[in-house]
Amino acid sequence: MTSDPKNISLSHARLEWRDNGQPVSSQYNDIYFSTESGVEETFHTFIKPNRLPERFIKLNAGECFSIAETGFGTGLNFLCAWQLFDELAVDGSRLHFISTEKHPLQQKDFQRALALWPTLQKQAAELVNLYLPACQGQQHFVFANGRIRLTLLIGDALETLTDYSGKIDAWFLDGFTPSKNPDMWRPELFDTIACKSHGQTTYATFTAARTVRDNLTRSGFSVEKIPAFGKKRDMLRGQFLQPTPVSSIRPEWQLPKPPVTKRQQAVVIGGGLAGTSTARSLAERGWQVTLLEQHEQLASEASGNPQGILYAKLSPHHTPLSRFILQGYLYSINRLNQLQDQHSPYWYQSGVIQMPVSDKEHKRYQALAEQFPKDLLFMADSDQLAELTGFRLNRSGLVFPDAGWVKPAHLCQSLANHPAIQTETGYRVTALKKEGSEWVLLNEQQETIIRSEVVVVAGGVHSHQFPQLEHLPVKSIRGQLSQIAETASSSRLSACLCSEGYIAPACDHEHTVGATFDFNDECLSVRKEDHQRNLDMLSSQMPEVYVALGENRSGPDKPDVTGGRTGFRCTTPDYLPLVGPVINRDSFIKQFAPLRKDAKALIDDKADYLEGLYVNTGHGSRGLITCPLSGEIIASMISGDSNVVEDSLLKALNPTRFLIRNLIRSTV
Ligand code: SAM
Repeated sequence: MTSDPKNISLSHARLEWRDNGQPVSSQYNDIYFSTESGVEETFHTFIKPNRLPERFIKLNAGECFSIAETGFGTGLNFLCAWQLFDELAVDGSRLHFISTEKHPLQQKDFQRALALWPTLQKQAAELVNLYLPACQGQQHFVFANGRIRLTLLIGDALETLTDYSGKIDAWFLDGFTPSKNPDMWRPELFDTIACKSHGQTTYATFTAARTVRDNLTRSGFSVEKIPAFGKKRDMLRGQFLQPTPVSSIRPEWQLPKPPVTKRQQAVVIGGGLAGTSTARSLAERGWQVTLLEQHEQLASEASGNPQGILYAKLSPHHTPLSRFILQGYLYSINRLNQLQDQHSPYWYQSGVIQMPVSDKEHKRYQALAEQFPKDLLFMADSDQLAELTGFRLNRSGLVFPDAGWVKPAHLCQSLANHPAIQTETGYRVTALKKEGSEWVLLNEQQETIIRSEVVVVAGGVHSHQFPQLEHLPVKSIRGQLSQIAETASSSRLSACLCSEGYIAPACDHEHTVGATFDFNDECLSVRKEDHQRNLDMLSSQMPEVYVALGENRSGPDKPDVTGGRTGFRCTTPDYLPLVGPVINRDSFIKQFAPLRKDAKALIDDKADYLEGLYVNTGHGSRGLITCPLSGEIIASMISGDSNVVEDSLLKALNPTRFLIRNLIRSTV
């Protein structure tokens, strides 16, 4: 979305509070809402003119209604729409609210603004606790057990909406007054809005300014003037009048329409983080999900480490990978805060410190600290680090104050713990066969395990054992971690430390230290020499911690390794996961062969996807950050909901990307 590094960090909204409790924007010198009657104003200006009560009542179970807004502000409009949806829409239907915002409010301002509306306190309580740093990019949130979703497009409305392609049912056009904020109301914005609208899309806006009327008409909307709220004279409402515009996405990148199914029933293969996240996101959208795991327990392979760190390796260049990591990181933190088990916690917001291993890396971290907001990450010197970690490390580090560590297997269990998910362990799927509209899942004896019109393969390194997925270039990287006994001194460690390896604060009297990194190594057993490599990493990069871990030993000052674990990270050549539908490789290569001669060749027909087959894998060692959001992405594709990430990221995650690149390079 943005390639300008300077743009990543945005300023929070600067507010002045009038004596009557009204927030006023210092940036735009305009009010957010009327203090006496903000809720009524929202109903009058946005809800009624978009005919939301009638439309919400008419929804069927399984349907998703999408509203998009320009200017999220205090979230008042969102909360009003949520409350109305709760009252009127049938169980099993969903609301997806998408809103743009260039200057998000700080948490204290959210709290103050939303405290004004006693009737909205139930909804507001969920919103005010969100972690929302002011940094450009999308942020996605789930509320009310998945009945309500919010996708915030943080940044300029035009820029963010241009890279977003969900179909919108109703628009709330709510930037500040055009005369005070002409930037928001540029003519191009209306064309962009039109591109995301369909024959039933409506809009409403508080203004009746001439330029707004003209732009709406020019972009294909009807324009009706109606009385505005309170002292204002007129406002506008209308409908999109054009036929649905043709997609501007090139045919090879176009994703298939959601599968047409008799029942909303799906099978997810793989009970790790990718599989359980996908199952949960589907279940929250009303799907009955069978989750198949070959082992006797969930999270038995790469997702089964005793401690997993939310380690967001960002790049100052804001590559698609870095943007996806950031979005996934923020989504995971909010999701973990919601899902946390208060009786048996599995998520510890200890903070994570990334310590540079070279001068070059130190400079890179400094560049990051300059580009991102301080509430997301900051550079700390050794004194600050001593305070944050409990250890004097004699070096500086990049601090992610809201990150921490998770017991991944507990998280997987918690994700799979949903009434619409049936977990079946001990089932190894060895083949997929299409019969009519259904996929038949077979075991080693070629017996049918289950049939389903929709299947998501989330089997990590095992995913490309199926011929249909064989073309996906996944690699396996062996990693071994060591568990080390806690000592009186090491118990002071209060944050996760990462450099070439990592150590987490003790959990059940053991620290997890890891992990080795080996290509072309299939050895499953835990090796002594690999424990030594982990200890060597500790002693060279975090010597103070190494010494503390050795202190209880009577013999040589060596930490006490109490156990270990081997796992295989499933990764891809560009380190982005594979998230999306599965293409029919052979017919795709035939159909798109002209790309070999001309990368710009336009092919008329739609690409031939294997209907109902999806993949979610290749998360490497970042599954905690990328799996939960990927589950949302896949589930929204399958359900036909509006997207939860921008188009450029969907493209970067598209499993067909390697075939397209190879065709263009003539290597396939
Ligand atoms: N809908 C909001 C509510 O329910 O509280 C009130 C919106 S307030 C009147 C207008 C919002 O538009 C402000 O939060 C402001 O920061 C945002 N804004 C202004 N210019 C923008 C732009 N170019 N892109 C995105 N958001 C913008």
